[in-house]
Amino acid sequence: MTTESALDTALSQLRTAVTKLGLSENEWQTLSTPRRVLEVAVPLRRDNGNVEMYKGFRVQYSTTRGPSKGGVRFHPDINMEETIALAMLMTWKCALTNLPYGGAKGGIAVDPATLSLVENERLTRRYTSEILPIIGPDRDIPAPDVGTDEKNMAWMMDTYSVNAGFSVPGVVTGKPIVLGGSLGRTSATGDGVAISTREALLARNINPLGATVAIQGFGKVGYWAAVALENMGLKIVAVSDVHGGVTGFASIKELWDHFLTHNNLDAPGTERMTNEELLHLDVDVLIPAALADAITGHSAPGIRAKVVVEGANAPTTPEGDAVLNDKGVLVVPDILANSGGVIVSYFEWVQDKQNYFWDADEVKVNLNQIMMRAFREVEETATSRKVTWREAAHMLGVGRVAEAHRLRGLYP
Ligand code: GLU
Repeated sequence: MTTESALDTALSQLRTAVTKLGLSENEWQTLSTPRRVLEVAVPLRRDNGNVEMYKGFRVQYSTTRGPSKGGVRFHPDINMEETIALAMLMTWKCALTNLPYGGAKGGIAVDPATLSLVENERLTRRYTSEILPIIGPDRDIPAPDVGTDEKNMAWMMDTYSVNAGFSVPGVVTGKPIVLGGSLGRTSATGDGVAISTREALLARNINPLGATVAIQGFGKVGYWAAVALENMGLKIVAVSDVHGGVTGFASIKELWDHFLTHNNLDAPGTERMTNEELLHLDVDVLIPAALADAITGHSAPGIRAKVVVEGANAPTTPEGDAVLNDKGVLVVPDILANSGGVIVSYFEWVQDKQNYFWDADEVKVNLNQIMMRAFREVEETATSRKVTWREAAHMLGVGRVAEAHRLRGLYP
């Protein structure tokens, strides 16, 4: 993955949406520029006493429709360009789902697997302190992303609150339940991917019951998508982690139980396969749920799935996308397919603001309702404008941000 690719992809998708919506060159200038970009040095005292410096980022791509919103990624390859691209995607995702947010993303260029728990805590707290002036429940609300989870959110919430002098749960989402987290947030992205899969199959007249699925990635998104899909009656035939794929397991539950005790996916009866072999399996649905650039001009020609549901952010390059479209594969784009996470983050923020907490059913019903509305809008736009689902999703998201810009006007 090159530095430019994620940003190039995001900009080319934006250019297509701007052109198809007939927006002006002035609007393109406004929409293609991040509002606020912050790079910070994050010093870490290692357990052995050495001090190391890490690069941290926070990009507030847009605040036009509300406070900016988006995850914090800990990954060695994260850089400013990729953070801008991911913050841009968050902007269109929040607008597509009609959440009252702009878009943001942040992160630290670090491999969290190389950190002890207390090093991870020190790094998270120092990063929070460095970006403190620009975050807040009415400004910019971070959340988990690749390489971070609820423990990082607890430390971020505590660091912000200690500095404020009182508890501010609404400054981050994806927190532990006891700190003001929401029921259903942990599984939300995977649950949304499962809803997207079901609806995409129905749109293609394929019965979801018994439909076959391959999932690339067995982390926060892939695992919970697998659980939800299995509960819906689909058959998960293969999953993968960073070490490659496995097939032949009896159920996701059995595979997960094995993983918890042995820390690998080699459950009894399973067979190994490469990541590439997993992508090319003869299945109904392929779910890329790992990192960017999984489906490229190189890997797309061998894909045999009828439907691709993007659990990850930006897993498909424009070349990969073109190949899938030529083959007639239905692609449910990331900003729709994985929007369940930020939708339940929104519920969490609303609950924190009101100090009134919902039961699990209320979360589930509202998540389903918002996703189904976005889904129908994308489907209708794709049909009426004769565009792909990705183009339709971007047109809806970008169009709403452009309209908000127009109505607010340009200051001064
Ligand atoms: N990191 C997730 C995403 O990419 C969730 C962001 C959020 O909840 O704010 O959508």
